[in-house]
Amino acid sequence: MNKFRKWINNTDINRFRFWFQLASFILLIYGGLLAINIGDRLPTFACVFDNLRGGSCYLMGFQHQTNIPFKQIFSGRGIGLFIGLATFIGFFLLFNKAWCGFACPLGALQDWITMIRKKMNIRYSVYSKPEFARLKTIKYFLLALLILIPLGMSNSVFGLPKLSHDFAIPFCMICPGRTLLPVFTGDFSQLAIDFSSKTKLVFTALGMAITGLFLSGSFFKKRFFCLFCPMSAFHYIFHKAAVLRLSKDGEKCTQCGNCYRVCDVGIRDIAEDIVSRNIVKDDCMMCFKCVAACPEENCLSVNLYGIPVYDSTAEGFFERMSRRNK
Ligand code: SF4
Ligand code: SF4
Ligand code: SF4
Repeated sequence: MNKFRKWINNTDINRFRFWFQLASFILLIYGGLLAINIGDRLPTFACVFDNLRGGSCYLMGFQHQTNIPFKQIFSGRGIGLFIGLATFIGFFLLFNKAWCGFACPLGALQDWITMIRKKMNIRYSVYSKPEFARLKTIKYFLLALLILIPLGMSNSVFGLPKLSHDFAIPFCMICPGRTLLPVFTGDFSQLAIDFSSKTKLVFTALGMAITGLFLSGSFFKKRFFCLFCPMSAFHYIFHKAAVLRLSKDGEKCTQCGNCYRVCDVGIRDIAEDIVSRNIVKDDCMMCFKCVAACPEENCLSVNLYGIPVYDSTAEGFFERMSRRNK
């Protein structure tokens, strides 16, 4: 067992993650070709607009289901909403934010764009601390809109008139998953502006602009879109109950900053916070690069049901460094 643990702790997590992301991308984007369907309540962006998908994003169903009159919340429709939500949360509680780091097709796409930039020897830019703090709140605003707009179609929210049906699936209309993921199956039909109504025109034009921002932003900033992703905000609400965890033993931390330097999302707290045991922050995608980069014995660790599955060790750190320098 010790040999097995040692082997895991010495692995190249980045390489493992690359292959896992690729397999997950193929499964979620093309799985339908082999009649694979792992459900439509996945806490990850596998777009419903992709006709060959092998499993799909929950956000579309969620937006449809929240378009419900308040008085029907405890009816069959309301129960459908709660069952959908419970399945989504169940998936999430199992793997926590590792959905973002290992399974999300939009996350993988951003990582591959970063790989292209690296090959071109172009330097990336980072956010300053105040910029980071300001921008990260956008995802909670988007999450609130994603809930309030569908609710506002069936109800008079804050005394305002009900919204028209053109407001249906507001987040999907601006989501880069809708415009970009079907392209991998040869379907370019979503890369367009819908002129059928003013509302749709505004939303789909915004969607095209966000797609452009997604592509250019991810080129210069690692995981650019993740900072604004409402799915990430949704995840974070439940992270304390998840069984897969990233833990830190602050007493072993020397605050060397290695973990922060490798973090693609730029989470400073991973190095600076020596108090929290559960160290998953709202922008963390659980890629575990920080664990691999930490040279202190068991300072950072990944646990499943409290059982350590991957730990920072001095040996693992030096092993990976020597592999990198070969
Ligand atoms: S458009 Fe975006 S939010 Fe909607 S189903 Fe597709 S990936 Fe999910
Ligand atoms: S790499 Fe490890 S020791 Fe260094 S700051 Fe991060 S958690 Fe602390
Ligand atoms: S804090 Fe660690 S696990 Fe989270 S995104 Fe950064 S490097 Fe990955």
